[in-house]
Parts: sequence; C-alpha cells; structure tokens
Amino acid sequence: MSMQWQTDVDLTHRNSFGFPAVAERFVEIDQLEQLELALAEVEQHQWPLLILGGGSNLVFRENLPGAVISIATRGSHVLVDDENTAIIEVGAGENWHGFISQLLEKGLHGLENLALIPGNVGAAPVQNIGAYGVEMADCFHSLTAYDRETKALVQLSKDECLFGYRDSIFKSSQQGRYIIWRVRFVLSTVFSPKTQYRGIADYLAAQGIVEPTAYQVYQAVCDIRMSKLPLPSELGNAGSFFENPIVSEAVYSTLKGQFPDLVAYPDRPGHFKLAAGWLIDKAGWKGRRVGPVGVYDKQALVLVNYGEGRAFDLLQLAGEITHSVKQRFGVELRMEPRLYPA
Ligand SMILES: Cc1cc2nc3c(=O)[nH]c(=O)nc-3n(C[C@H](O)[C@H](O)[C@H](O)COP(=O)(O)OP(=O)(O)OC[C@H]3O[C@@H](n4cnc5c(N)ncnc54)[C@H](O)[C@@H]3O)c2cc1C
Repeated sequence: MSMQWQTDVDLTHRNSFGFPAVAERFVEIDQLEQLELALAEVEQHQWPLLILGGGSNLVFRENLPGAVISIATRGSHVLVDDENTAIIEVGAGENWHGFISQLLEKGLHGLENLALIPGNVGAAPVQNIGAYGVEMADCFHSLTAYDRETKALVQLSKDECLFGYRDSIFKSSQQGRYIIWRVRFVLSTVFSPKTQYRGIADYLAAQGIVEPTAYQVYQAVCDIRMSKLPLPSELGNAGSFFENPIVSEAVYSTLKGQFPDLVAYPDRPGHFKLAAGWLIDKAGWKGRRVGPVGVYDKQALVLVNYGEGRAFDLLQLAGEITHSVKQRFGVELRMEPRLYPA
C-alpha cells in the first residue's frame, strides 16, 4: 500500500467562501493503511494537519502549511433492520445531502429537516449540524473514528461524543484527536413530521398540506433553504457565520422588555437562545456591503464573499458586527466556522 501527497494544491474551490488558499500537501484517503502512512509522516515532521470535508464550515485565513487530508470513505449499508427502526452506517466521505436523499428513497426517517446542508457526513458530528428544529444528534447512533492518540480505530457512542448546540468533543475538548471514518444513524421506518419550526409550518399551510409526507417536509426544507440562503457556487459563504447566543432567563427578560420583538427560543432550563440573525439585523447590518464582503440581504446571519474578498476582509467585518451587537444588546456573538490556520 502506498500513499502519495500532492503538493501545492489549490483549495480555492474546496472552501465554500472561495477564499484562495494553497495546501502545501494534500491527499485524499479511503483506506485505513493509507491514513496510517499519512499520519506517520505528519507526526514525524510535526506538520500542522487539517482534516478537510466539503470546506463549507471553514475560513481559510491564508495558505495552509503542513498537510491536508480529505477523508473519502464512501458507501452506506443497513446494519440492523427491525420493525420500526433501522441502523445505517455511512462513510465519512459521502455527501450529506446525497445521504439524506438516499434515506428518503429507502423510507428511513428522522433527518429530513437537515436536507441540503452542504458538506460531508464525516463533518456532521463535529458541530452536531442542525436546522429547522432537528439536530444530527437526534438520530445519531455511534461512529468509528481513527484515534490519533492510541493509533487505532475506535467506536464512540452518542454519550461519548457529548453533543450540544453546534458542539461535540470533536470541536472542543478532543479537537484534532479523532478522524471520523464511518458514522451510524438510527432511523425510523415510521415517519413523524417535525414541523413545529415556523418556516416549515407556514410553507406547508400555504400549500394546504395538513398531514405532510416525508417527501413534502424534505421538499419544504429544500425550497425554504433555496429561497433564503445563497448558493456557495454563486456567492461565497459558510451558512450561519455566528452561533445563536444562549443567555440566562434574566438577561432574556431584560432584553425582551427593551425589545418586545426580540426573537428567542427556550433552551435548557433557565436559558434562552437568541436569534443571532435578529440581533445583527436590528443592529443595522442586514444587506450591508463592506468592500468585497458583506451581510446577505435575505439572512443577516450569513456573511458573503462577493468574489474578490479575503479572510482578512471577512474577519474585519465580523469583528465590527460583533462589536456593535455587544454595544447594543450586551450579548457576545461567537463565530461558527473554524478559522484555519488558527
Ligand atoms: C449555504 C450553507 C448552509 C449551511 N447550513 C447549515 C445548517 O443549516 N446547519 C448547520 O449546522 N450547518 C450549516 N452549514 C455549515 C456546514 O455545512 C456544516 O457545518 C457541515 O457539516 C460542514 O461539512 P464539511 O464537510 O464542509 O466540513 P468542513 O468545512 O470541511 O470541516 C468542518 C470541520 O470539521 C472537521 N472535519 C471534517 N471532516 C472530518 C472528519 N472526517 N473527521 C474529523 N473532523 C472532520 C474539519 O477539520 C473542520 O474542523 C451551512 C454551510 C453553508 C455553506
């Protein structure tokens, strides 16, 4: 088994902001032996390492020194299939939306609301992707990852991954330790729609749909996303640029008193999740362009690159937005995509 690095690889089209960046070394891997060879070299030379999926949640600050590994494990198969549930295992290198579409065809339900999220299956557990009232963790079973500490494949259960709002051990306490190889989901053979999210409920009501099928919910999600979010191929972006801040009930009540139209949702007991898009919009940023970057005019949570922008421009804009939201509401915004090199 051999493994060949490509050198000076242009990643401009492998990150959804379209920022120019060249990887010093790059390799796509779908065999464990290749991964072990690549990691041995990374360790020997102490190269910085980035595991790259679809590049839709990354901000490339500059060229990437060291090594970039793209995990290309593919395929999916059903492991357990009983009367009401099935466990399906899927390669980390599969496209997320393609996988969701496959589940729909197979009649396996639970993840319809996460249709059309860009990126690969392997990155989905990293920030526990979520949309329209559903999180990946809702249907997560377990995963197989390569542990760079023990140098072996390990199985991690849902509890061990410590999923939270846009969070997991892969993003926080164990960042850089595990390389996700295959992921297992537990899905239902019986469809129960999750349409409490206002956008979906309004969409279905407008179509006169009272008891939606799985396909109708999937289609609703796709249509809503297409109408609200820019396509990275047309306008560089990484989806939501900021996480929705979670504040105590006391902070929420004070803000609600000052701003009765504040948009917020109950979170864990005693806490509320504020809609960051509302805060940014209210602070006057929606649709504003600052040179080559700006705030998307249909969704204030999305920062965009009009074509010639660089990470520097984007981070400057993000800093100004963060500052003005803090001044106006006393709330700290946190960037969602990962900055690389850090
Ligand atoms: C238009 C648009 C809409 C979006 N909408 C949503 C949304 O609704 N909800 C949401 O949660 N996100 C959303 N996102 C963000 C993004 O799509 C998700 O976070 C997605 O899971 C990132 O996948 P990726 O393969 O592109 O990961 P990348 O951007 O390549 O990587 C993200 C992180 O995961 C790590 N990683 C990737 N693969 C692996 C692996 N195999 N093992 C270990 N670590 C790995 C990387 O090192 C990096 O730290 C959106 C992005 C865009 C551009």
